Amino acid sequence: MNQTPITTAEIEQAIRTIPDFPKPGILFKDITPVLANPRLFAGVINLLTANYQPGSVDAVVGIDARGFILAAAAALKLQTGFVPVRKKGKLPFDTHEESYELEYGSNTVAIHVDAVKPGARVLLVDDLLATGGTAAAAISLLKKLGANILGVNFLIELSFLHGRKKLSDIPTHSLVVY
Ligand code: AMP
Repeated sequence: MNQTPITTAEIEQAIRTIPDFPKPGILFKDITPVLANPRLFAGVINLLTANYQPGSVDAVVGIDARGFILAAAAALKLQTGFVPVRKKGKLPFDTHEESYELEYGSNTVAIHVDAVKPGARVLLVDDLLATGGTAAAAISLLKKLGANILGVNFLIELSFLHGRKKLSDIPTHSLVVY
């Protein structure tokens, strides 16, 4: 595999934009071409974990579903564990839940009550920051567990939706910003 560091321009070129998916008016950012390219996938994980060293993070938390792919790989890179924040009704043990408003309706995410210990240093990872509702709900869940949230890292940020404002107290980094 070619180990030359990747550029954000290369990631941006590989991201496929699908108009009107899953609903009219949404420009869906499809990261499957990035994941399918081993050099880009490894490069993205390197960039998402660049500010951390093994031993400095107790868990990488990923958000259902594409966030799992990135967070699990980031956890291995940082030699630490992976914790899922899932859509409601999917986790089998006792959970905390957090609901947030969407443009139409609402969504609920959940975490196992014992997923991280109080004071654990966690990195939150998701594929895309849009309005910020999902990440803000995941942060609320982690705060309920008493986690020390080191940062929130995204592959993509849709900056025109100002989702970052909802995460104002947590260091937030995105690799490709539209
Ligand atoms: P939000 O809560 O509005 O920040 O939405 C973020 C979540 O919805 C992420 O987990 C994304 O996977 C997904 N998402 C929102 N908008 C898009 C989009 N335009 N393309 C792909 N995924 C999106």
